[in-house]
Parts: sequence; C-alpha cells; structure tokens
Amino acid sequence: MTLDAFKTWKCHICKEERPDDKISVVTKPLVINGQTVGDQNIRYCNDRPACIEGAKEFSFFKGKREER
Ligand SMILES: [Zn+2]
Repeated sequence: MTLDAFKTWKCHICKEERPDDKISVVTKPLVINGQTVGDQNIRYCNDRPACIEGAKEFSFFKGKREER
C-alpha cells in the first residue's frame, strides 16, 4: 500500500473532497470567446448523479463572458 490510497480530490461541481475512487475526470476543450485555447480537466463525483450531470455543463470560464 502507498499513500496514494488516501489521496482525495476536490469535486469541481459540489466542491467536496472525495476519495480517489469516487472521482472521475472529464477533459473538455477550453473555449474562450469562441476559440479553443487548451484543455480543461473537470473532476466530478462518479457516484452522484447531480455531479455527473453538472460535469457535462461545467466549464471553468462559462458565464464569465458569453457571446451571442
Ligand atoms: Zn461532487
């Protein structure tokens, strides 16, 4: 066993610290003002439907600057 077994991650959706096996990561393109500038890794609880759903919509920059 290593210390990794005790690793926790913070869910970006509910902001809670969760054990490693309860956290999944989804990689999305990071889009700012309509341009893809990189990737963003969004962590979410894989055992909470609200977090799984939230991760689909989540973006670190969403809402700061929405262009229509
Ligand atoms: Zn969560």
